[in-house]
Amino acid sequence: MAELILAPGKERSVMRRHPWIFAGSVAKLAGRSKPGDTVEVFTEHGKLMGRAAFSPASQIRARMWSFDPAESIDHGFFKRRVATSVARRATHPHLAGQDGLRLIHGESDGLPGVIADRYGQVVVLQLTSAGAEKWRDAIVAGLVQATGCTCVYERSDSDVRKLEGLEPCTGVIFGEMPEGPLVISENGVRMEVDVAGGHKTGFYLDQRDNRFLTGQLSAGRSVLNCFCYTAGFSLQALAGGATGVLSIDSSGPALETAQRNLALNPQLDASRAEWREADVFEALRSLRTEERKFDLIILDPPKFAPSAAHAQRAARAYKDINILGFRLLNPGGILTTYSCSGGIGLELFQQIVAGSAVDAGVDARIIHRLGAGPDHPVGLAVPEGEYLKGLVCQVD
Ligand code: SAH
Repeated sequence: MAELILAPGKERSVMRRHPWIFAGSVAKLAGRSKPGDTVEVFTEHGKLMGRAAFSPASQIRARMWSFDPAESIDHGFFKRRVATSVARRATHPHLAGQDGLRLIHGESDGLPGVIADRYGQVVVLQLTSAGAEKWRDAIVAGLVQATGCTCVYERSDSDVRKLEGLEPCTGVIFGEMPEGPLVISENGVRMEVDVAGGHKTGFYLDQRDNRFLTGQLSAGRSVLNCFCYTAGFSLQALAGGATGVLSIDSSGPALETAQRNLALNPQLDASRAEWREADVFEALRSLRTEERKFDLIILDPPKFAPSAAHAQRAARAYKDINILGFRLLNPGGILTTYSCSGGIGLELFQQIVAGSAVDAGVDARIIHRLGAGPDHPVGLAVPEGEYLKGLVCQVD
């Protein structure tokens, strides 16, 4: 096994159990290593820190699998890590019984580059690092054993694979896909999930708890759901007793799925649902011209700032929609606003929303601070894993 020797002082981040070793932290690699191979990580003084996956193409040159010098990286290692991740979800009261949930959340579950989401009998696997790619078979075997699923579908088509020198890879890799559309039930609402063509692994599981809370807040309120995708928030709002829900998205296919989802839920009053295929930035301005007002507005835009480099332009986009959102609220109304941009931290996001309220001329207070659910944990050693933040603000 090749040996990766850290540059002087660079062992500190590894000692704090951060799994990433950047190219600039490597003094030398002794021995030969192919992408994804396991390397032993040593300090400059020869102390073994653990084992990592080597990735020569990436700026993140190695990702720690284990910080225990006595632990070997083999099939048994992946079986244990996968089983532990799955078991953690099974014992959480908000997750037990959900048929859509994240089973493995990368670094925060001790499996850098591995995402696994469960939709009923199907597990969708996304591998984003050379090390994860190397151990695909062990990870799949671990998932099948820990979940008893009948199908594993691979969705390794995320752009970040390019940074690791990996090609996209998609399709069934274990068992068979069930016949017909895949439907999950989320807190009493049935939703179709397109694991082959949908966003991420097919669905935004990270917003599950926030959709439920929004449903509860929607009772007796008129609701505007911007960036609705397949109508997750809209249907929870209807289930929660909204008087009407206008849902907007620029994607025609997403809106078609959204309407099929409504039809999958005959318990909901379909006459209360209104749809618009439009650009949200323009639609919010049109709604103002039309003198429409709402009691609750949801803004869940796509990632405007994938990294800190995009923060400034993204901040303007967030500010724009939040000003417009605040202006469309009735007195006492609620704005629920999200950012899933890694490049915009919570503090900055809150400043943007505060500035938007000032520009809109409203007084507002935060009544809930939200993030992703417990199936998307954030490792204390890996704070950059915290990407989704939400503020629920109520105006005077
Ligand atoms: N709230 C959704 C997820 C939203 S994902 C849920 O809970 O499932 C973001 C959505 O924004 C996508 O459906 C995408 O089609 C849409 N979108 C991106 N840019 C847009 C724009 N400028 N105007 C309208 N919709 C947009």
